[in-house]
Amino acid sequence: MAHSGKIGRPLVYYGPQVKKDTMAAGKKKKGPRQAAGLQCGECKSFGYITEYNKNNEILKKQTSNESTFPLNKFCKVCRKRTSHKLMKKLK
Ligand SMILES: [Zn+2]
Repeated sequence: MAHSGKIGRPLVYYGPQVKKDTMAAGKKKKGPRQAAGLQCGECKSFGYITEYNKNNEILKKQTSNESTFPLNKFCKVCRKRTSHKLMKKLK
């Protein structure tokens, strides 16, 4: 029995295929920029929300062993420039 079961015509038609790449285009990209809250070192008030580049900070630590934080910022409560430290990482 020489029987080849394949027929040239496909039995199922799938229709126009949707590209999956276009589906992900609307998603928000999560970059190296991180939102961070800054806390005054003297009065402990939570005064600033800033953005910093995570990659830059890692690079800074590797090259010069320095950190972006604490930052010298003007505190509204102390009414002077104080060192503000990184309080928490915000989403
Ligand atoms: Zn303060």
